[in-house]
Amino acid sequence: MAGTLTYLSDSSLPAGSLVRVPLGQRELLGVVWDAPVENAGADLAARSALDPSKLRPIAAVLDALAPLSANWRTLIGFAASYYQRSAGEVALAALPPQLRDLSSMQLARRLKKKAAAASNASASSASSTKTSTLATDEAPLANTDSAKKTTDLVALTQEQTRAIATFDTQPGPFLLFGATGSGKTEVFMRCTADLLASSDTTQALVMVPEINLTPQLEERFKARFCADYGEDAVVSMHSGMTPAQRLKSWLGAHSGAARIVLGTRMAVFASMPNLKLIIVDEEHDPSYKSHEGARYSARDLAVYRGRLEGAKVMLGSATPSLESWYHSRPAAEGGRYMRLEMPSRVGKNAVLPLVRRVDMNHQPKGCVISPPLLSAMAERIARGEQSMVFLNRRGYAPVLSCSDCDWKSNCPHCSAYRVFHKIDRSLRCHHCGFAERVPRACPDCGSLDIAPVGRGTERLEEQLALLLSGITRADGSAVRIARIDADTTRLKGSLESQLAQVHAGEVDVLVGTQMIAKGHDFRRITLVAAINPDGALFSSDFRSPERLFGLLMQAAGRAGRDASNTSRSEMWVQTYHPTHPLYEALKQHDYPAFAASQLVEREQAGMPPFSFQALVRADARTQEAAQAFLNAASLASDQSAELTPWRSHVMLYPAVPMSIQRVANVERAQMLVESPSRKALQRFLSIWQATLHATRAQPECKGLLRWAIDVDPLLI
Ligand code: ADP
Ligand code: ZN
Ligand code: ZN
Repeated sequence: MAGTLTYLSDSSLPAGSLVRVPLGQRELLGVVWDAPVENAGADLAARSALDPSKLRPIAAVLDALAPLSANWRTLIGFAASYYQRSAGEVALAALPPQLRDLSSMQLARRLKKKAAAASNASASSASSTKTSTLATDEAPLANTDSAKKTTDLVALTQEQTRAIATFDTQPGPFLLFGATGSGKTEVFMRCTADLLASSDTTQALVMVPEINLTPQLEERFKARFCADYGEDAVVSMHSGMTPAQRLKSWLGAHSGAARIVLGTRMAVFASMPNLKLIIVDEEHDPSYKSHEGARYSARDLAVYRGRLEGAKVMLGSATPSLESWYHSRPAAEGGRYMRLEMPSRVGKNAVLPLVRRVDMNHQPKGCVISPPLLSAMAERIARGEQSMVFLNRRGYAPVLSCSDCDWKSNCPHCSAYRVFHKIDRSLRCHHCGFAERVPRACPDCGSLDIAPVGRGTERLEEQLALLLSGITRADGSAVRIARIDADTTRLKGSLESQLAQVHAGEVDVLVGTQMIAKGHDFRRITLVAAINPDGALFSSDFRSPERLFGLLMQAAGRAGRDASNTSRSEMWVQTYHPTHPLYEALKQHDYPAFAASQLVEREQAGMPPFSFQALVRADARTQEAAQAFLNAASLASDQSAELTPWRSHVMLYPAVPMSIQRVANVERAQMLVESPSRKALQRFLSIWQATLHATRAQPECKGLLRWAIDVDPLLI
């Protein structure tokens, strides 16, 4: 493995052992790595050539911890090579930072505490099984306990039953294609329950795209599993945890005491010695792709890891990624995933919301909320129901402009506007963070006539308050409007408390960004409105229709989740293109039709999933240097004999500026690399890496700051 370092050790250490090693003046966490098999001889020769007197000894062995498994090491090795990074970088990012800081003794103490807690839990669950067995033998009274357990569980729908039966008998991987509110989470929990019951040691990994969604899921899983398996059986892993919490969860997973790990993308690397099930909820969500360091896709690694570990994998979504959808076509057509379908919502009256398009060409000019939408909202308010209005832009207005001289609130450091935030009267750049107080007058001409252009959620909230000011609730009190976006949820716990208010019915109209459109199980919302979604129809990014459709379907899915509500819920879309095929498919809730049309387009254009892509991104002091670097590396690839076998299968496009070309005074360029063959692309990239490194030294690349490869990029 490239990039390993050699140290001396008194005793022979098994691969996977965690160690602390000196590097320069520092002491780092290390993992004893496997000697590469294919050139073990050469490696041995290289090693014996090393002068032992020059090697430094390992500082400490964390022998309180079991070594990381061979499967874990293979996973790390694969991720590193696939995403073109070093194994050390991937491995260390996957381990909790606190492992570095604790002494072996401290670790041993924590593990002992864990073991004691685990044995307590299993002792109590063992004794409870025993009592109930005894009881069933002896007296009819005994049934109360088990009867209570079964009534706790809902009766599965036919669709759920069928999905689980197929899951039980087939190897997978599976794509659970279930409408919003079809009971996917219930299926996940049943599959997990069956797995945990099948043996005392099996572990399940359940992934969600966003930290925001973990508390709700955690609550549901804890409620279901902690009574039977103990408080420590369910742990979370996400970046919002303190280092101490992360270490605790990691140790739980690594020791096997945690039977269920819930987490965001980082959890795909959790060390789980008995992993037998991996669930990826909302598998289409872009948050599964990391956008720094090793730019891995946790969803794709989950599928790889499942195969590696012999664990079943279930991806779930109401709007799958086109990649997963394509993989789940019938096996006869080459599909590799098994599709499980749950098209209906749970509950007798639960139907998907009615989609209504408002043709904005026929509405009063400049209106934000069209009159019909406004009156539909007023009706809900009168009935005591909630509405949700979303707009994918936070702040008050995306730009401030002078009507006299055309000055605009550009960010001096980025090729982007600074957003006007009225609440603290600031202009803030959402790319570099640069913030200033709003000027009183135009900085260029001194005119006082500077005004916000366009609208974000902050302004929408203000305008709604105005529009609804004449309307009262059934009890005569004023309409209550709340806003949830990245600005209102900066403080820890604020999102939870705001969501709690919505759930408690203390809000009539909820305004927000896509943050509120995803995943939340709102019970009282019967109207959802997208104010201005058209932009994504005409974006240059070929994935943007897919994202828009997914977002609108998700948003629609927030409405009418309570089957006891008698009125049919509605999803409103304000658009200037009401007959656009995307909105037609949305109206029918017809993801398959939308996906089919997108796949035809992608196939014709030779785009993923019909081709494989990578982006090389370069940051430099000047745009010229960034592009020169990429173009020089491209040219060099034509001249490399080593690359010849792969070069003809790979298409390199010319370097172009990124869509936001300058951020924080750094110029950014990118080059698209594409191939119909994943293997050819992989081989090409791994060899081309050396060329990229070498190109850096060329004189025309002076000013290059850094470059990185993004394999299977999501944003082009
Ligand atoms: P999804 O994840 O597909 O959006 P959920 O699993 O959150 O759907 O289920 C939606 C709602 O329906 C939840 O409140 C859940 O408790 C409930 N539910 C799920 N399955 C059943 C069932 N078989 N019977 C009754 N209610 C169910
Ligand atoms: Zn001006
Ligand atoms: Zn900026």
